Order: sequence, then structure tokens, then C-alpha cells
Amino acid sequence: MEMSLEYIISRAAKDAGIDETGEVSIRELEYRDEVRKICEGNSCRCYGTTWACPPGVGTLEECQKRLESYNRMMVFSKIYRLEDSFDFAGMRSAMNDFKDVTEAFDRGLGRDFPPHMVLSNESCHRCEVCTYPDEPCRFPDKLYQAIEGYGLVVSVLATRAGIKYNNGPDTLTFFGALLWGRS
Ligand code: SF4
Repeated sequence: MEMSLEYIISRAAKDAGIDETGEVSIRELEYRDEVRKICEGNSCRCYGTTWACPPGVGTLEECQKRLESYNRMMVFSKIYRLEDSFDFAGMRSAMNDFKDVTEAFDRGLGRDFPPHMVLSNESCHRCEVCTYPDEPCRFPDKLYQAIEGYGLVVSVLATRAGIKYNNGPDTLTFFGALLWGRS
């Protein structure tokens, strides 16, 4: 019996250790310039350093066009416990783990899964030295661009997907998104 794409997605999410998932409407996404301005402020020090963040992801219009070339979008999250709000090592380790979870989820979809795209919180730290901006990305199939870089407000996405954005004191929740299906 052929498995539905929804079944494959939900199995891959469970196997990867994803905590929550929920679908949102791509047509209702808001691509906000003020979010890009926060990226430009570079408090994360990722701006202009990889193909996962602005300006490497392209203009907001290009980002919108890229997302709108799909017709389904599922937001996913993973919750991490911290020792306290100063647990910076825990935050770093959670971020690294979430990148692994995102990749495991993508891999779990399988080679026969139709064309799709996976976004993830924050930048890409896969290579010691990124090729940006001189050469194309070394691993375009494993490049999970930053949701924030697309001008999307993650808390709004989470609410629309029916996922908890804030999971309480001493927790950190990371978000990603899967886009699939061609119009
Ligand atoms: S996979 Fe490597 S080359 Fe591609 S964006 Fe990430 S760090 Fe840069």
C-alpha cells in the first residue's frame, strides 16, 4: 500500500524527535521588512556570513516567490530544557541539536519524497568556513535557511500552526518549516 505524504511527514517528524507540528496557509504569510531590519542589526552576528541568512537568501520578494512555489507548509518545533536563563552552553547545545533534528527530519522524508524545502531557526554552521559570497553553497540539499531571514515572525507562525511558542521558564523552543507540493 502506498503511504500518504502526510503519513511520511508525521513519521519522519516523530523519528527525528520533533515535539509539535502544525500546518499554515502559505498564502497568508506576511513577509515583514522590519524582521529583515533586525537581521541587518546583526545582533546574532550571522548577517552576511552564510547562504542561510540575508542578504544571501535574496530579497523579500525572492523569498516570497520561493515559498509560494509550494502549496503546503508545516511548521515544527522542538522544546529544550535549560538549567536556568543563563545556561548559554545549554542554548548553544540546543541550537546544534536542533540543526541535527532538522536534518534527520529532512532525511527521514526519504529519497522519493517530492521536491520540498526545509527552513530552520537561525543560520547555517555546517562548514568551518562558508563559501558565501564567493562560491555557491557546498551542500545546497542540506541548506536549511533561517525562517527569520524570510521576514517571517516565528511567534505568528507558531500561533497560526497551533504550536506553543513559549514553553515556560528555562526552556528554549526552536522552530522549522517544511514546504512541499507544487501548485
Ligand atoms: S552548507 Fe556550508 S557553504 Fe552552505 S551555507 Fe552552510 S556553511 Fe555555507
